[in-house]
Amino acid sequence: MIEGRYFPPASSAVTPAVLSGTPEALLLQVSEGQAPMMPVLLSVSDPVAGVPRKVTFADGGVFEAALSADVDGFLGTRTSFFSRLARFEGNLKYIALAAMVTVGLLFIAYRHGIPLLASGAAVMTPAPIVAAIDFGTLETVDRTLFEPTELPEKRQDELHELFAELSAAAGKKGPPLQLLLRRGGKTIGANAIALPGGTIIVTDELVTLAAADDEIAGVMAHEIGHVRERHSLQQIYRVLGIGFMVGLVGGDAGQLVDDVVTQASALQTLVYSREFEASADLYSVGLMRQVGRDPVSFVDLLDRIGKDDEAAKETYWFSTHPGTKERRATVERRVRELTGG
Ligand SMILES: [Zn+2]
Repeated sequence: MIEGRYFPPASSAVTPAVLSGTPEALLLQVSEGQAPMMPVLLSVSDPVAGVPRKVTFADGGVFEAALSADVDGFLGTRTSFFSRLARFEGNLKYIALAAMVTVGLLFIAYRHGIPLLASGAAVMTPAPIVAAIDFGTLETVDRTLFEPTELPEKRQDELHELFAELSAAAGKKGPPLQLLLRRGGKTIGANAIALPGGTIIVTDELVTLAAADDEIAGVMAHEIGHVRERHSLQQIYRVLGIGFMVGLVGGDAGQLVDDVVTQASALQTLVYSREFEASADLYSVGLMRQVGRDPVSFVDLLDRIGKDDEAAKETYWFSTHPGTKERRATVERRVRELTGG
Protein backbone atom coordinates (compact mmCIF):
# COMPACT_ATOMS: atom_id res chain seq x y z
CA MET A 1 0.00 0.00 0.00
CA ILE A 2 1.21 3.48 -0.83
CA GLU A 3 0.08 6.89 0.30
CA GLY A 4 -0.43 10.00 -1.76
CA ARG A 5 -2.97 12.35 -3.26
CA TYR A 6 -5.84 11.66 -5.59
CA PHE A 7 -6.92 13.90 -8.48
CA PRO A 8 -10.39 12.73 -9.64
CA PRO A 9 -11.06 12.85 -13.39
CA ALA A 10 -12.39 16.15 -14.73
CA SER A 11 -12.18 17.88 -11.36
CA SER A 12 -9.79 20.23 -9.66
CA ALA A 13 -10.38 18.66 -6.25
CA VAL A 14 -7.39 17.06 -4.55
CA THR A 15 -7.76 14.64 -1.64
CA PRO A 16 -5.36 12.56 0.42
CA ALA A 17 -5.66 8.94 -0.63
CA VAL A 18 -4.24 5.46 -0.11
CA LEU A 19 -3.66 2.98 -2.90
CA SER A 20 -3.76 -0.69 -1.93
CA GLY A 21 -4.64 -4.09 -3.33
CA THR A 22 -2.64 -5.59 -6.20
CA PRO A 23 -1.65 -4.12 -9.61
CA GLU A 24 -4.41 -6.23 -11.19
CA ALA A 25 -7.05 -5.29 -8.58
CA LEU A 26 -6.26 -1.86 -7.17
CA LEU A 27 -8.19 -0.34 -4.28
CA LEU A 28 -8.23 3.44 -3.90
CA GLN A 29 -9.34 4.74 -0.50
CA VAL A 30 -10.03 8.44 -0.62
CA SER A 31 -11.40 9.05 2.87
CA GLU A 32 -12.36 7.01 5.92
CA GLY A 33 -15.83 5.56 5.89
CA GLN A 34 -16.21 5.75 2.12
CA ALA A 35 -16.23 2.63 -0.06
CA PRO A 36 -12.87 2.12 -1.82
CA MET A 37 -12.82 2.69 -5.58
CA MET A 38 -11.40 0.06 -7.92
CA PRO A 39 -9.49 2.03 -10.57
CA VAL A 40 -7.84 0.34 -13.53
CA LEU A 41 -4.14 1.07 -13.93
CA LEU A 42 -3.24 2.79 -17.20
CA SER A 43 0.31 4.07 -16.78
CA VAL A 44 2.97 5.13 -14.31
CA SER A 45 5.22 8.15 -14.81
CA ASP A 46 8.99 7.73 -15.05
CA PRO A 47 10.97 8.04 -11.84
CA VAL A 48 12.68 11.42 -11.71
CA ALA A 49 14.53 12.48 -8.56
CA GLY A 50 12.42 14.85 -6.42
CA VAL A 51 9.30 14.51 -8.57
CA PRO A 52 6.31 12.52 -7.26
CA ARG A 53 5.36 9.53 -9.40
CA LYS A 54 1.98 9.81 -11.10
CA VAL A 55 -0.20 6.73 -11.41
CA THR A 56 -2.81 7.31 -14.11
CA PHE A 57 -6.03 5.30 -14.21
CA ALA A 58 -8.15 4.31 -17.16
CA ASP A 59 -10.97 6.70 -16.13
CA GLY A 60 -8.60 9.69 -16.22
CA GLY A 61 -8.12 9.91 -12.46
CA VAL A 62 -4.54 10.36 -11.21
CA PHE A 63 -2.92 9.15 -8.02
CA GLU A 64 0.19 11.10 -7.09
CA ALA A 65 2.36 9.00 -4.81
CA ALA A 66 4.20 10.50 -1.86
CA LEU A 67 7.90 10.95 -2.59
CA SER A 68 8.79 8.31 -0.02
CA ALA A 69 6.41 5.70 -1.50
CA ASP A 70 7.90 2.59 -3.14
CA VAL A 71 5.76 2.77 -6.27
CA ASP A 72 7.73 0.19 -8.23
CA GLY A 73 7.75 -2.21 -5.30
CA PHE A 74 3.98 -1.87 -4.93
CA LEU A 75 3.09 -2.11 -8.63
CA GLY A 76 5.73 -4.71 -9.40
CA THR A 77 7.21 -2.41 -12.01
CA ARG A 78 10.82 -1.58 -12.42
CA THR A 79 9.46 0.80 -14.92
CA SER A 80 10.56 2.84 -17.83
CA PHE A 81 14.17 3.62 -17.04
CA PHE A 82 14.85 -0.01 -16.29
CA SER A 83 12.79 -1.36 -19.12
CA ARG A 84 14.42 1.11 -21.48
CA LEU A 85 17.78 -0.07 -20.24
CA ALA A 86 16.65 -3.64 -20.79
CA ARG A 87 15.56 -2.75 -24.30
CA PHE A 88 18.91 -1.11 -24.95
CA GLU A 89 20.68 -4.17 -23.66
CA GLY A 90 18.42 -6.18 -25.94
CA ASN A 91 19.64 -4.10 -28.86
CA LEU A 92 23.23 -4.60 -27.83
CA LYS A 93 22.57 -8.31 -27.66
CA TYR A 94 21.02 -8.15 -31.10
CA ILE A 95 24.00 -6.30 -32.53
CA ALA A 96 26.38 -8.74 -30.88
CA LEU A 97 24.35 -11.63 -32.24
CA ALA A 98 24.38 -10.14 -35.73
CA ALA A 99 28.13 -9.70 -35.49
CA MET A 100 28.52 -13.29 -34.37
CA VAL A 101 26.31 -14.52 -37.18
CA THR A 102 28.38 -12.54 -39.68
CA VAL A 103 31.63 -13.88 -38.33
CA GLY A 104 30.06 -17.33 -38.31
CA LEU A 105 29.00 -17.01 -41.94
CA LEU A 106 32.47 -15.87 -42.96
CA PHE A 107 33.96 -18.78 -41.07
CA ILE A 108 31.58 -21.20 -42.77
CA ALA A 109 32.42 -19.63 -46.12
CA TYR A 110 36.10 -20.06 -45.36
CA ARG A 111 35.81 -23.64 -44.16
CA HIS A 112 33.08 -25.04 -46.37
CA GLY A 113 32.94 -22.63 -49.24
CA ILE A 114 30.06 -20.92 -50.91
CA PRO A 115 27.41 -23.70 -51.01
CA LEU A 116 26.69 -23.72 -47.30
CA LEU A 117 26.73 -19.94 -47.21
CA ALA A 118 24.32 -19.89 -50.15
CA SER A 119 22.02 -22.22 -48.32
CA GLY A 120 21.96 -19.91 -45.29
CA ALA A 121 21.42 -16.84 -47.44
CA ALA A 122 18.59 -18.58 -49.31
CA VAL A 123 16.74 -19.16 -46.06
CA MET A 124 17.23 -15.53 -45.01
CA THR A 125 16.21 -13.85 -48.26
CA PRO A 126 13.02 -11.81 -47.74
CA ALA A 127 9.92 -13.19 -49.50
CA PRO A 128 9.18 -9.99 -51.52
CA ILE A 129 12.64 -10.19 -53.07
CA VAL A 130 12.14 -13.81 -54.05
CA ALA A 131 8.81 -12.86 -55.61
CA ALA A 132 10.51 -10.00 -57.46
CA ILE A 133 13.06 -12.40 -58.94
CA ASP A 134 10.22 -14.56 -60.26
CA PHE A 135 8.36 -11.62 -61.67
CA GLY A 136 11.42 -10.15 -63.38
CA THR A 137 12.72 -13.46 -64.70
CA LEU A 138 9.33 -14.35 -66.08
CA GLU A 139 9.06 -11.02 -67.83
CA THR A 140 12.46 -11.55 -69.44
CA VAL A 141 12.00 -15.18 -70.51
CA ASP A 142 8.50 -14.50 -71.80
CA ARG A 143 9.92 -11.77 -73.99
CA THR A 144 12.99 -13.68 -75.17
CA LEU A 145 12.45 -17.44 -74.94
CA PHE A 146 8.92 -18.67 -74.45
CA GLU A 147 5.81 -18.46 -76.54
CA PRO A 148 2.23 -18.73 -75.30
CA THR A 149 1.04 -22.30 -74.79
CA GLU A 150 -0.76 -23.95 -77.69
CA LEU A 151 -2.22 -26.78 -75.63
CA PRO A 152 -6.02 -27.12 -75.89
CA GLU A 153 -7.83 -25.43 -73.04
CA LYS A 154 -9.18 -28.71 -71.71
CA ARG A 155 -5.67 -30.13 -71.49
CA GLN A 156 -4.45 -26.97 -69.75
CA ASP A 157 -7.22 -27.35 -67.17
CA GLU A 158 -6.23 -30.98 -66.55
CA LEU A 159 -2.61 -29.97 -66.02
CA HIS A 160 -3.56 -27.22 -63.60
CA GLU A 161 -5.68 -29.73 -61.69
CA LEU A 162 -2.75 -32.12 -61.58
CA PHE A 163 -0.52 -29.35 -60.29
CA ALA A 164 -3.09 -28.26 -57.68
CA GLU A 165 -3.22 -31.83 -56.37
CA LEU A 166 0.56 -31.85 -55.91
CA SER A 167 0.89 -28.35 -54.47
CA ALA A 168 -1.87 -29.07 -51.94
CA ALA A 169 0.10 -32.11 -50.80
CA ALA A 170 3.33 -30.08 -50.75
CA GLY A 171 1.81 -27.82 -48.09
CA LYS A 172 2.00 -24.10 -47.56
CA LYS A 173 5.49 -23.89 -46.08
CA GLY A 174 7.53 -21.69 -48.42
CA PRO A 175 6.53 -19.53 -51.36
CA PRO A 176 3.11 -20.09 -52.98
CA LEU A 177 3.32 -22.48 -55.92
CA GLN A 178 1.93 -21.65 -59.34
CA LEU A 179 2.05 -23.46 -62.67
CA LEU A 180 2.58 -21.65 -65.97
CA LEU A 181 2.28 -23.39 -69.31
CA ARG A 182 4.41 -22.12 -72.20
CA ARG A 183 5.61 -23.28 -75.59
CA GLY A 184 9.36 -23.84 -75.38
CA GLY A 185 10.10 -23.55 -79.10
CA LYS A 186 13.53 -24.29 -80.61
CA THR A 187 15.64 -23.02 -77.74
CA ILE A 188 13.89 -24.48 -74.75
CA GLY A 189 12.06 -27.49 -76.14
CA ALA A 190 10.74 -30.04 -73.67
CA ASN A 191 11.55 -28.48 -70.38
CA ALA A 192 10.42 -27.64 -66.88
CA ILE A 193 11.81 -24.81 -64.81
CA ALA A 194 11.33 -23.76 -61.21
CA LEU A 195 11.88 -20.13 -60.25
CA PRO A 196 12.77 -19.39 -56.62
CA GLY A 197 9.44 -17.71 -55.81
CA GLY A 198 7.40 -20.82 -56.59
CA THR A 199 6.67 -20.24 -60.28
CA ILE A 200 6.98 -23.50 -62.17
CA ILE A 201 6.99 -23.43 -65.96
CA VAL A 202 6.23 -26.58 -67.95
CA THR A 203 6.51 -26.52 -71.73
CA ASP A 204 4.01 -27.86 -74.26
CA GLU A 205 6.79 -30.02 -75.68
CA LEU A 206 7.34 -31.81 -72.37
CA VAL A 207 3.60 -32.38 -72.00
CA THR A 208 3.42 -33.80 -75.52
CA LEU A 209 6.38 -36.14 -75.01
CA ALA A 210 4.88 -37.62 -71.85
CA ALA A 211 3.06 -40.93 -72.21
CA ALA A 212 1.11 -40.62 -68.97
CA ASP A 213 0.04 -37.92 -66.54
CA ASP A 214 2.13 -39.54 -63.82
CA GLU A 215 5.22 -38.71 -65.84
CA ILE A 216 4.26 -35.04 -65.97
CA ALA A 217 3.24 -35.10 -62.31
CA GLY A 218 6.67 -36.55 -61.46
CA VAL A 219 8.42 -33.70 -63.25
CA MET A 220 6.16 -31.18 -61.48
CA ALA A 221 6.89 -32.83 -58.13
CA HIS A 222 10.61 -32.68 -58.89
CA GLU A 223 10.37 -28.95 -59.67
CA ILE A 224 8.30 -28.37 -56.52
CA GLY A 225 11.19 -30.05 -54.70
CA HIS A 226 13.58 -27.45 -56.15
CA VAL A 227 11.30 -24.67 -54.86
CA ARG A 228 10.65 -26.13 -51.42
CA GLU A 229 14.35 -26.85 -50.86
CA ARG A 230 15.26 -23.41 -52.20
CA HIS A 231 17.62 -24.79 -54.82
CA SER A 232 17.05 -21.99 -57.34
CA LEU A 233 17.94 -19.29 -54.86
CA GLN A 234 20.97 -21.17 -53.59
CA GLN A 235 22.07 -21.74 -57.17
CA ILE A 236 21.77 -18.04 -57.98
CA TYR A 237 23.81 -17.23 -54.90
CA ARG A 238 26.41 -19.86 -55.70
CA VAL A 239 26.86 -18.50 -59.18
CA LEU A 240 26.74 -14.81 -58.38
CA GLY A 241 28.73 -14.87 -55.20
CA ILE A 242 28.95 -13.38 -51.77
CA GLY A 243 28.51 -9.68 -52.54
CA PHE A 244 25.28 -10.44 -54.25
CA MET A 245 24.09 -12.58 -51.39
CA VAL A 246 24.75 -9.83 -48.87
CA GLY A 247 22.83 -7.36 -51.05
CA LEU A 248 19.74 -9.51 -51.40
CA VAL A 249 19.62 -10.70 -47.81
CA GLY A 250 20.09 -7.11 -46.68
CA GLY A 251 17.11 -6.15 -48.80
CA ASP A 252 19.03 -3.63 -50.94
CA ALA A 253 17.74 -5.33 -53.96
CA GLY A 254 16.29 -3.28 -56.79
CA GLN A 255 19.35 -3.11 -59.01
CA LEU A 256 20.53 -6.58 -58.06
CA VAL A 257 17.24 -8.17 -58.96
CA ASP A 258 17.38 -6.32 -62.27
CA ASP A 259 20.84 -7.74 -62.89
CA VAL A 260 19.78 -11.27 -62.12
CA VAL A 261 16.78 -11.26 -64.39
CA THR A 262 18.15 -9.31 -67.32
CA GLN A 263 21.49 -11.06 -67.59
CA ALA A 264 19.30 -13.87 -68.95
CA SER A 265 21.98 -15.99 -67.41
CA ALA A 266 19.12 -16.48 -65.00
CA LEU A 267 18.13 -19.68 -66.75
CA GLN A 268 21.69 -20.84 -67.20
CA THR A 269 22.00 -20.31 -63.51
CA LEU A 270 19.22 -22.80 -62.93
CA VAL A 271 21.34 -25.70 -64.10
CA TYR A 272 21.50 -27.51 -60.83
CA SER A 273 24.25 -29.45 -59.22
CA ARG A 274 23.80 -33.23 -59.04
CA GLU A 275 23.28 -32.98 -55.33
CA PHE A 276 20.28 -30.68 -55.86
CA GLU A 277 18.96 -32.96 -58.59
CA ALA A 278 19.19 -36.03 -56.39
CA SER A 279 17.56 -34.14 -53.56
CA ALA A 280 14.66 -32.97 -55.77
CA ASP A 281 14.23 -36.54 -57.05
CA LEU A 282 13.90 -37.86 -53.52
CA TYR A 283 11.48 -35.07 -52.68
CA SER A 284 9.36 -35.98 -55.69
CA VAL A 285 9.19 -39.62 -54.59
CA GLY A 286 7.71 -38.56 -51.26
CA LEU A 287 5.24 -36.16 -52.83
CA MET A 288 4.12 -38.58 -55.57
CA ARG A 289 3.50 -41.31 -53.02
CA GLN A 290 1.52 -38.88 -50.91
CA VAL A 291 -0.93 -38.28 -53.78
CA GLY A 292 -0.94 -41.94 -54.76
CA ARG A 293 0.88 -41.59 -58.07
CA ASP A 294 3.78 -43.58 -59.48
CA PRO A 295 7.04 -41.97 -58.29
CA VAL A 296 9.28 -43.79 -60.78
CA SER A 297 7.24 -42.79 -63.80
CA PHE A 298 9.06 -39.56 -64.61
CA VAL A 299 12.34 -41.42 -65.14
CA ASP A 300 10.55 -43.18 -68.04
CA LEU A 301 10.00 -39.76 -69.57
CA LEU A 302 13.72 -38.97 -69.20
CA ASP A 303 14.61 -42.31 -70.75
CA ARG A 304 12.29 -41.72 -73.67
CA ILE A 305 13.79 -38.31 -74.31
CA GLY A 306 17.28 -39.85 -74.11
CA LYS A 307 16.45 -42.50 -76.72
CA ASP A 308 14.93 -39.98 -79.06
CA ASP A 309 18.04 -38.40 -80.56
CA GLU A 310 16.21 -35.52 -82.12
CA ALA A 311 14.39 -34.73 -78.91
CA ALA A 312 17.54 -35.13 -76.83
CA LYS A 313 19.37 -32.65 -79.00
CA GLU A 314 16.64 -30.10 -78.59
CA THR A 315 15.84 -30.81 -75.03
CA TYR A 316 17.32 -28.53 -72.51
CA TRP A 317 15.81 -30.31 -69.54
CA PHE A 318 17.48 -33.52 -70.53
CA SER A 319 20.86 -31.88 -70.94
CA THR A 320 20.53 -30.25 -67.57
CA HIS A 321 19.13 -33.35 -65.89
CA PRO A 322 21.59 -36.07 -66.88
CA GLY A 323 22.31 -39.54 -65.61
CA THR A 324 18.94 -41.23 -65.89
CA LYS A 325 20.24 -44.71 -65.03
CA GLU A 326 21.71 -43.55 -61.78
CA ARG A 327 18.60 -41.55 -61.05
CA ARG A 328 16.29 -44.46 -61.67
CA ALA A 329 18.32 -46.57 -59.27
CA THR A 330 18.22 -43.88 -56.60
CA VAL A 331 14.51 -43.23 -57.05
CA GLU A 332 13.68 -46.92 -56.93
CA ARG A 333 15.80 -47.39 -53.82
CA ARG A 334 13.93 -44.55 -52.14
CA VAL A 335 10.58 -46.10 -53.06
CA ARG A 336 11.72 -49.39 -51.50
CA GLU A 337 12.86 -47.57 -48.37
CA LEU A 338 9.52 -45.83 -48.02
CA THR A 339 7.50 -48.99 -48.59
CA GLY A 340 9.73 -50.87 -46.21
CA GLY A 341 10.45 -53.46 -48.91
ZN1 LIG B 1 15.90 -30.60 -61.49
